[in-house]
Amino acid sequence: MGFGASGSATKESGFLCIRPRRLARQCLRCFAPCCNLALDCVDVALRVIGPLFVLLALTLICFVMYTFFTVLIPYRADSGTASIQLLLEMALGCFLLVNIFYNYAMATCLSPGEPPDFPGEVLESKDAELGGDYAPAPKQCHKCLKLKPPRAHHCSVCKRCVLKMDHHCPWINNCVGFNNYRYFCLFMLFLAMGCLYYAFLGYSLFLQTMVPARKRTVRLKFEDVQCVTLSWLISVCIFCALCLLGGFHMYLVLTNQTTIEFHLNMAGRQIARKRGEVHRNPYDLGMSRNFQQVFGPNRFLGFLWLLPYVARRPTSSGLEYPTVSDFRA
Ligand SMILES: [Zn+2]
Ligand SMILES: [Zn+2]
Repeated sequence: MGFGASGSATKESGFLCIRPRRLARQCLRCFAPCCNLALDCVDVALRVIGPLFVLLALTLICFVMYTFFTVLIPYRADSGTASIQLLLEMALGCFLLVNIFYNYAMATCLSPGEPPDFPGEVLESKDAELGGDYAPAPKQCHKCLKLKPPRAHHCSVCKRCVLKMDHHCPWINNCVGFNNYRYFCLFMLFLAMGCLYYAFLGYSLFLQTMVPARKRTVRLKFEDVQCVTLSWLISVCIFCALCLLGGFHMYLVLTNQTTIEFHLNMAGRQIARKRGEVHRNPYDLGMSRNFQQVFGPNRFLGFLWLLPYVARRPTSSGLEYPTVSDFRA
């Protein structure tokens, strides 16, 4: 009797255990089309609002630049800054601006790198000749049907495969990949330096705008006060955001990972830990080699990599990447 009761209880508890899982599976099956539709909508939205993000980014940069040259520099001239120092400040401002716009234009307009067409026919004939064991078959993207080399991923917003894809960035309305990653990083670096520079030079003027007009030591028009306050706050906010994003990308560069690979490696590390194994990023060749894969064969302390129009370009084609095992062999 007791045995029967316990058997029934086991059955009941088993049923209770299985039911939530089955329910979850059924729910997932029901929600999968909705999730796919929502993701498609996000992709379409990113494609539509992409140019608006670019316009917004350029507007913010131009607004701060306008305030720098029309309010801040005249204020510094009036407050007794030496002419030579003023010239140097303007020259440094122009240098930062040129590099911000150059790297932004390159990151936005340059193709991130697309793989070639899938060489299906060639491989089929070679496979046939050599009994099918000729070489491991290359991967083909099932969405755009192109060759999918290592580290390439399909971008659902651009609807194409991208070499060494990092992510799709709405701020440049483009994918960040093999060809434009260094420009993207340098844009963030110069923008952060520009924001810091403006925040530093404009700090005393910003403090003036924070006190009532009658207590100010300089005369400021109402629109100038608004320009200075807004542009200073924009600079500080962008600088803080870039410190986080730029710091993350510097870590990715030095460890030879893309943002996608960072998440894959995290998951791989967790699985390996459960098995008692150690997961290693196969592309991590040491900081110096990792850095040169992105910024070309330029010495870090030579600082030529900061100027991509004169620095040496990365030597890789973007289709193959050396791994740790290549260097051990
Ligand atoms: Zn594809
Ligand atoms: Zn994309």
